[in-house]
Amino acid sequence: MSDYTNILVAVDFHSGAGQVLTKAHQIAQRNKAKLNLLHVVEYMPPIDSAYDPMLASNPMIDEGVLVQNARQSLEKLSQQNKLNNAELVVQLGAPKHEITKYVEDNQCDLVVIGSHGRHGISLLLGSTANAIVHAMPCDVLTVKI
Ligand code: AMP
Repeated sequence: MSDYTNILVAVDFHSGAGQVLTKAHQIAQRNKAKLNLLHVVEYMPPIDSAYDPMLASNPMIDEGVLVQNARQSLEKLSQQNKLNNAELVVQLGAPKHEITKYVEDNQCDLVVIGSHGRHGISLLLGSTANAIVHAMPCDVLTVKI
């Protein structure tokens, strides 16, 4: 296995997230690598502003609050797993796009993801997992959940 220096873990807060973090933490320690935890808040306004700009965003949903809540969940998960030096990042958008952007902007050399999460075990590889595996410019470790 090559030496990794900058590892990104894509965290979705589903039941296998701890398992994915544990594996990523072990690899980071072995390689003395930096660990980044990224969660993407996947909230899209339900109506396209091209059709009706007045309805484009739901006033009942505050995107800032969603991001803030996700940040708190990420901090909690990081503390539970004793990841004191990890960089915690929350972005709003589409997971595949935001994860790819983060990897490119920060020159990550390994992405660690779960084999599934939100999209369940009925699929061989979850749809986010599948998209990430094909989009990444670097190695991807898929942790079997
Ligand atoms: P899925 O393909 O949605 O079943 O998820 C597979 C894996 O992709 C999860 O175990 C996470 O590692 C990652 N993932 C899914 N959704 C997100 C998200 N919103 N933010 C960050 N990582 C995610």
